[in-house]
Amino acid sequence: MRRQRKTKIVATLGPASNTPQMMAALFDAGADVFRINMSHTPHDLLKRMHGDLRALGQAKGRPIGILVDLQGPKIRLGTLKGGPRQLKEGEKIRLVLGETSDNPDEVPIPHPEIFQAIKQKHALLIDDGKVRLQLLKKADTYADAVVVVGGEIKDRKGVNMPDTLLPMSAITPKDRSDLDAAMALGVDWVALSFVQRPEDIAEVKKIVAGRAGVLAKIEKPKAMASLDQILELCDALMVARGDLGVEMPLEAVPGLQKQITRAARKAGKPVVVATQMLESMIQSPTPTRAEVSDVATAVYDGADAVMLSAESAAGAHPVEAVTMMDHIACKVESDAIYQSMIDSQRNPPEATTADAIMAAVHEVTQTINAKAIICWTQSGSTALRAARERSQAPIIALTPSLDTARRLSLVWGLHCLTADEVSTLDAMVDQAIAFAEREGFAKAGERVVITGGVPLGVTGTTNMLRVAMLGTK
Ligand code: PGA
Ligand code: MN
Repeated sequence: MRRQRKTKIVATLGPASNTPQMMAALFDAGADVFRINMSHTPHDLLKRMHGDLRALGQAKGRPIGILVDLQGPKIRLGTLKGGPRQLKEGEKIRLVLGETSDNPDEVPIPHPEIFQAIKQKHALLIDDGKVRLQLLKKADTYADAVVVVGGEIKDRKGVNMPDTLLPMSAITPKDRSDLDAAMALGVDWVALSFVQRPEDIAEVKKIVAGRAGVLAKIEKPKAMASLDQILELCDALMVARGDLGVEMPLEAVPGLQKQITRAARKAGKPVVVATQMLESMIQSPTPTRAEVSDVATAVYDGADAVMLSAESAAGAHPVEAVTMMDHIACKVESDAIYQSMIDSQRNPPEATTADAIMAAVHEVTQTINAKAIICWTQSGSTALRAARERSQAPIIALTPSLDTARRLSLVWGLHCLTADEVSTLDAMVDQAIAFAEREGFAKAGERVVITGGVPLGVTGTTNMLRVAMLGTK
């Protein structure tokens, strides 16, 4: 069994989908990577889901990726003494430091950092931006603000502060404990929410220490401001359009999506487009035309993966949502305009041997209409450079490491398989050909392009390109 699609699908698991039966159904429908949202997942459930997903991978004989999404420094209101409260435009209100306040007129926020960092005129957005405040003046333990857009506020609602660089670490004590739990189980990707600075990534990378890929969720203007440095440090990006659309004007989000996608493609690091992709499918068995067009746009842009959130985690139609994404991606990828758009955005090789080989692989594959690119990779870095070329032929990433195969399951165009270590070049070519044939990528008389490194078995040595024809028996 092989997927017919290059764009990958990430499905978030939740109450609607976290049974072994549903996980299997979502995988069969096309989910390549499963996301576990630590905002809603206690550790015993994480452990159970992790075990079920690993068992599924084994049963299917396929590397299935697990992405653990850390909540990050999400700011929330405390408990409102007088219950839910209506704020009117032009009204002045006082925010105070604390879980609650004895004065029902005051709005408590239990985060001392925000009182330190907020500056005059900075915005405070409550409940996904539904209510908008602007700071008038502040002290160490309180802040006075004016209501710019009114509405109801309730206990524990989220607060976004797009203008303020918060002196908060990207990992809270909860994140640290969630991360330790995930690392103890062994996961493939760790996503970091509300990244503000490159140092946030550095901090998590130090803890993860290569045991998983680190994905930076881009959802704050501060992250956009240092996108290049963040991209240099992280292993993947997510266009986290939910919070991004709160912190930035909604109409800016499509352009930012293109900017982030292009930057990631240029760097050769996977990028995931996320949030509200098929939102109406939470209730409805079919999406809106606009949602279909949105998924298609991400595919046309050459994103590595498209993601489902509540659609697969808590909706009424998780399997249908994955199936719909699969159909959209397959349809777009078979469109001639898709290929021309992907080609027009191809990035030139960097001045490395691996990139020079991959650029040559791209040319050769196209010139002789090779049916597949077969890429030997230990750490996965060669396969990432192969994917960066966005060639038309499918890429089979062969690796001796199951961890590498699982991590690469997020990446555009890669069909990841584990393979035995080989000691000779001939054995390597034979194995590559056998895989291509067995997996239905090529048949007798057709050619494949193989890349690898000589001497064999040493990482970072990709220096060889070989064309092989499948035997006629
Ligand atoms: P979240 O991240 O669902 O964890 O908030 C995605 C987003 O903000 O779009
Ligand atoms: Mn978010």
